[in-house]
Amino acid sequence: MKKFDYILAGGGCAGLSLVYHLLDSSLKDSNILILEPTLGEIPNKTWCYWNTAALPIHPEAARFSWNSFYLQQGKQQHQHRLTKLAYYHLNSHDFYTHVLEKIKNFPNVHFLKEEVSSIHSTGNEVYVETKSSGTYSSSYVFDSRIFVGNETQPILNQVFIGLRIKSNTPVFDPNSMGLMDFDTPGSSGFDFIYTLPFSDQEALIEYTAYTSDAYREEVLLGSLKNFLQQKYGTLAYQITFQESGQIPMTTRVQPTSSGSRHVRIGTAAGWTKPSTGYTFAQIQENCNQLVACLEQGATQNLRFQRKPRFIFYDNILLSIAHHWPKRLPGLFINLFSTSSPDLVFRFLAEKTSFWEEVKLLSRLKFGIFLKGLTRYGTY
Ligand SMILES: Cc1cc2nc3c(=O)[nH]c(=O)nc-3n(C[C@H](O)[C@H](O)[C@H](O)COP(=O)(O)OP(=O)(O)OC[C@H]3O[C@@H](n4cnc5c(N)ncnc54)[C@H](O)[C@@H]3O)c2cc1C
Repeated sequence: MKKFDYILAGGGCAGLSLVYHLLDSSLKDSNILILEPTLGEIPNKTWCYWNTAALPIHPEAARFSWNSFYLQQGKQQHQHRLTKLAYYHLNSHDFYTHVLEKIKNFPNVHFLKEEVSSIHSTGNEVYVETKSSGTYSSSYVFDSRIFVGNETQPILNQVFIGLRIKSNTPVFDPNSMGLMDFDTPGSSGFDFIYTLPFSDQEALIEYTAYTSDAYREEVLLGSLKNFLQQKYGTLAYQITFQESGQIPMTTRVQPTSSGSRHVRIGTAAGWTKPSTGYTFAQIQENCNQLVACLEQGATQNLRFQRKPRFIFYDNILLSIAHHWPKRLPGLFINLFSTSSPDLVFRFLAEKTSFWEEVKLLSRLKFGIFLKGLTRYGTY
């Protein structure tokens, strides 16, 4: 049986990020195996995050950022400006190319196009059974296989479809990104449009819905095209990129593992912010910390606990999203117009102090939060 220092079960965003951080550390000569069934394919994804500077893993040539953004309801556009933070965009193809280029310089990192079927631990060894090439053993396994819960209650998903379009005429303002435009007339729940303008003729425009129902991509695409027609009229454009996805929005992720050296990472570990779906920056922060723990020889504390008060805030927001989704546009507009946008984004990234949260929350119209409390639970 072949033995490795580290095995990655899944070489997506979290798996590759962890390897990237390992290769920047004193552990860079470790023997690493990445097991990934879709090896050679790059999923179409757009990763956005906010920070004071671009993250080190974000290749310089692929950096795009905005300091201004808007929320829109009807004709009213609420413009906001970030002062210390910026909102960054990274395309998955640039990310994969950059990380794979780095890995090429390390013959100690091995890839195998393979599906992991099960993982178990005995003492200090972790065993990874694969679908067609037998079993591998390792001192640590980092597992980002998608978590499928056996939920009795339905969870909410953020479902979306986005088109990067090049229009024949200038219609976009590249200085301001559209965080949420609630002008989605056909919607029965909480839907919004997200617009990332790269120039006056090029933008990624996404239709997003929070739903616990099964959904059809064609329906989302139809809604997106309706929006484009309604907002820009008969606009001639070419589609240069398309992405779609589903992000679980739940505080119920209970990552299971076969032992302390079998560590869940990524969305499978609950690193996705339940109320917003953002994950990328958290993946980078946690991978950085994981590597620091490994460098110190720690086998414990390789799991990240969220602060209970942020789980509490998420549960209230999810309670509102489940039961009163039509109140969310007003809530987000209220949130961003009563505190500085930097503070709100830091709050959404769980980087605020308790007193900052008291200040921020005390400025809100709290009727809907009291309603949310009446249906409080884990969602
Ligand atoms: C389209 C899209 C856009 C997103 N945009 C943003 C964004 O703008 N900002 C943000 O913060 N977050 C965003 N997210 C959320 C999150 O950042 C991504 O989903 C991210 O890819 C999560 O990383 P991950 O490694 O946990 O999962 P993945 O990147 O999905 O990686 C999991 C890997 O496990 C592999 N795998 C599955 N089963 C097995 C198996 N049996 N054996 C071995 N490997 C297996 C999969 O093939 C996959 O490569 C987005 C998500 C999607 C879907």
